[in-house]
Amino acid sequence: MNPCQECGEPSVITLAYGPHYFCKKHFLHFFEKRVRKTIRVNRLIEPKDKVVVGVSGGKDSMATLFLLQKILGKTISLHALMLDEGIPGYRDKAIAKAVDGCEQWGIPYTVAKHQEEVGYSTTEVFQKIQENPKLGSSCGYCGTFRREILNRKAIEMKATKLATGHNLDDEMQSVAMNLFTGDLFRLARLGPRSGNHELEGFVPRIKPLYECPEKEVMAYANLAGIPHYSDECCPYSWMAKRNHFRKAINDLEANLPGSKFALLSSFRQLKPMLAKEEFRQKANLQKCVQCGQVTTQTVCGACKLIKRLNESTGKNEAPSHGAGLLVPAIKRGKKLTCATTKGYRPTERGRSFPHGETDEPLVQIQ
Ligand code: SF4
Ligand SMILES: [Zn+2]
Ligand SMILES: [Zn+2]
Repeated sequence: MNPCQECGEPSVITLAYGPHYFCKKHFLHFFEKRVRKTIRVNRLIEPKDKVVVGVSGGKDSMATLFLLQKILGKTISLHALMLDEGIPGYRDKAIAKAVDGCEQWGIPYTVAKHQEEVGYSTTEVFQKIQENPKLGSSCGYCGTFRREILNRKAIEMKATKLATGHNLDDEMQSVAMNLFTGDLFRLARLGPRSGNHELEGFVPRIKPLYECPEKEVMAYANLAGIPHYSDECCPYSWMAKRNHFRKAINDLEANLPGSKFALLSSFRQLKPMLAKEEFRQKANLQKCVQCGQVTTQTVCGACKLIKRLNESTGKNEAPSHGAGLLVPAIKRGKKLTCATTKGYRPTERGRSFPHGETDEPLVQIQ
């Protein structure tokens, strides 16, 4: 092992793209410096912001929460929002870790359950898909519902920012997925700050770990002693289309170190062009006519998916999830860590995926 490039002590980590060699102390410093820079350069947070952090209990969201408190805890208010998708034996354990961390750090938290918020737990969705494979994949529903619930709850909490634990790998997978599906409108919305910040009903999303490779987040969480859940992966993660892109990009990085940063650099150069009039017009957000949540279409993805699930079970009521802004609230009723750390399982051939899956990764909520 090469010595630490900063102090000459034995290194604990090698970053092949540098290459960089760091001891524990200097790796923690290197990692935190990068996060500070991402926040500063992209103006992710302003003093007095109320930041709600989407927390899954995994390494990414727990590191995000920890770092926001460490870096900005004196000038902003923080609240952890944990989403329980209803995946017994997995998310309940991850949420227990998240609760441990919040109590240790003195950060207030709220747990919201998919079953109560949209009427379906992810396990129920999975069972419906087993009965009717045409419904798509669990992740398509789970991810769409997660985004919708996070935004709605953040509005209820009067948050000025919604932070998620998306890391460099997540973002570059999303870039590649949207390029390969030709979805330039979704591509245009990616970045460390996303969404229309002026539109009422949308809490701006920020990604402080946007420039941090996943393996470095893992190393940081372990070396900094951040409580997080990493034992098991979600039992439904094998359905995710994202797995193909994760594998492809990781293979590239292994053979050509620095590929992830190179893709990030290309995306940065592309982004201003994507924002030009044609795309801005079509990527413009509006309010869902059914629930009032911000969407790019007349009816939001969550309402469409709830309708699809209702139709598959013969329920006839209209989708009524969410507080929305046009209608009153009517509540009805690892991160893919396995693919990263425990191997890769290809998606079943020929399966169709709902559109929502191609957007963002799992909140690690992750
Ligand atoms: S892998 Fe993530 S998005 Fe997919 S079902 Fe599991 S928790 Fe939901
Ligand atoms: Zn050192
Ligand atoms: Zn809607």
